[in-house]
Amino acid sequence: MSTPILVLNCGSSSVKYQVIDVDSETVLATGLVEKIGLPDSVIAHKTGDDKHVIEEALPDHTAALALITKVFETWGPPLDSVVAVGHRAVHGGELFREPVLISEAVTQGMTDLAGLAPLHNPPGVAGIKAAQKILPNVPHVAVFDTAFFSTLPAEAYTYAINTEVARKYGIRKYGFHGTSHSYVSKTAAAFAGRELADTNQIICHLGNGASISAIKGGIAVDTSMGLTPLQGLVMGTRSGDVDPGVFAYLARVAGMDSQAVDDLLNKQSGMSGLNEGASDFRDILAKTEAGDEDSKLAIDIYLHRLVAYIGSYMALLGRTDQLIFTAGVGENAEWIRTGIVERLAGFGLRLDESINRVRSGDPRVISTADSTVSVLVVPTNEELAMARETYKVIRP
Ligand code: ADP
Repeated sequence: MSTPILVLNCGSSSVKYQVIDVDSETVLATGLVEKIGLPDSVIAHKTGDDKHVIEEALPDHTAALALITKVFETWGPPLDSVVAVGHRAVHGGELFREPVLISEAVTQGMTDLAGLAPLHNPPGVAGIKAAQKILPNVPHVAVFDTAFFSTLPAEAYTYAINTEVARKYGIRKYGFHGTSHSYVSKTAAAFAGRELADTNQIICHLGNGASISAIKGGIAVDTSMGLTPLQGLVMGTRSGDVDPGVFAYLARVAGMDSQAVDDLLNKQSGMSGLNEGASDFRDILAKTEAGDEDSKLAIDIYLHRLVAYIGSYMALLGRTDQLIFTAGVGENAEWIRTGIVERLAGFGLRLDESINRVRSGDPRVISTADSTVSVLVVPTNEELAMARETYKVIRP
């Protein structure tokens, strides 16, 4: 038996997709459409070892989904075998606390939340509408990036700003990357043979975007991203935490308007801002090894911030059973893991360096047997997590 689910992740100029059979949890096809809205849009469609690339101008998401339909017709698997579509939805605000079956009211709700996620929710809705046209007879489900963090206690999600203003404009911490944190939390507990309900975890999702969460018995109790994905850790191009006074200061002394400051902090900061535009950790390591002082400082800033968060989450949790690394940097940059755990040696954390250096796509424990906290690498798989969540919603 096979139960294929199409998972769609629509960004402003891209669509990522996978067809996953949720019975065997195997990937039947993957693809990526890039440069939507530009004359040289391109689709890459993979089934097994076969890869097909087509260049074709795609003005919008409807055109992108039409081309996706065409490549499935040509190279398979047949789209009419798909039983449901799972859509990545970035911001669920306070409206959506779990994955939902998409109705007119749901797309309207996502549109109403566009003020909170102007770069993400509108393309998400455009993708849903286009996908509903090509697959009108199957259920469509929205899986929200914020949903896993809807359990945060009020003391964690409330900013200490004027209550009236905060309530009127929905200003609070929402958290992002929830699908990944949730998947990694469950996978890490199961891998270690632990009851999730009796496991306290700190998860470092370190990709281009980066966030950290404190999870008590499977329930998120704090996370570093906030109203938007700008808060928290140092990221590829985002600053993470800064003094909020920076906004008013730059407006005053540099005459920058809100858009200019937003761009500065989201697109020209983080590792990229500290490294003359280099945000990839492989490039940054190479620069550091060549003796570049700015890159060395950037890495120290990155580690300092991350260790400070881990320490504060250890305090919140009281007892930490697992410290878990995931996503592009967390899974691949063993030297970042070493840098973190060395800084936590005072708490009795120890890495087994020979295991830490091994490259693998599987979950693994990288700490020594006498480490006070078990340290793991658990590769994330947001597409599989979305397929599972989608199936949970539609399962009869
Ligand atoms: P996102 O999904 O947020 O775009 P990923 O989780 O795919 O990001 O992470 C991408 C980042 O992972 C890259 O920018 C790069 O810094 C880092 N990365 C990927 N592979 C390696 C590697 N072998 N060594 C160090 N860093 C890596």
